[in-house]
Amino acid sequence: MPNATLELLLARNRIHAARVSRHDAEYFSRHEAGQAPRCLWIGCADSRVPVDTLVQASPGELFVMRNVANQVLAEDDSIMSGIEYALNTLRVDTVIICGHTHCGGVDFAGLMAVVPGEEKKDTPLTRQMFPLSQALRQQIKQHPEWRQLSKDHLKRFFVEANVRQQIVHLQQTSLFQSAKRQRPLEIFGCIYDLKTGILDVLSDENGENTL
Ligand SMILES: [Zn+2]
Repeated sequence: MPNATLELLLARNRIHAARVSRHDAEYFSRHEAGQAPRCLWIGCADSRVPVDTLVQASPGELFVMRNVANQVLAEDDSIMSGIEYALNTLRVDTVIICGHTHCGGVDFAGLMAVVPGEEKKDTPLTRQMFPLSQALRQQIKQHPEWRQLSKDHLKRFFVEANVRQQIVHLQQTSLFQSAKRQRPLEIFGCIYDLKTGILDVLSDENGENTL
């Protein structure tokens, strides 16, 4: 059964492969030797955040893990296995945890945080976003002034709070702590703005970029 979506993607792939090979005949064969990326990128699965494109990265530069709302959860073997491989085998020296504006996953967790009963639905998505919803609920308790914010501002605060939360989660893992003892290893939190295409680094409470 023909599938228009797949056919379009395959057609574009053939054009891409032919164009690149014409420009550089060894381009694809060079990748057979292996990969040595310096950076692990943990980002959201959102289709509007094209990781390699937005930082103009070439194949082999970024080791990318993506899921809904860039979650780093110790009980999630999918993300943890990627982190293990990036830290222990590839030995990356930089980790970027990247959130983005208009994140549907964070919005969902925010809804669970503020609307009683939302978190009781038992689906893969609610289970995945439950820890974040609890963290956001805690943040609202600590910052009651957030309730006065416009919806858009509150959503932006949630996106930033999420990135900071996932950085803490990563720092708490034995994988990260062990790698950090062995070599220089830095984590940065970033936010990609869908409206402008700009990627910014989150600062900590001292205004420093390194979190
Ligand atoms: Zn998202």
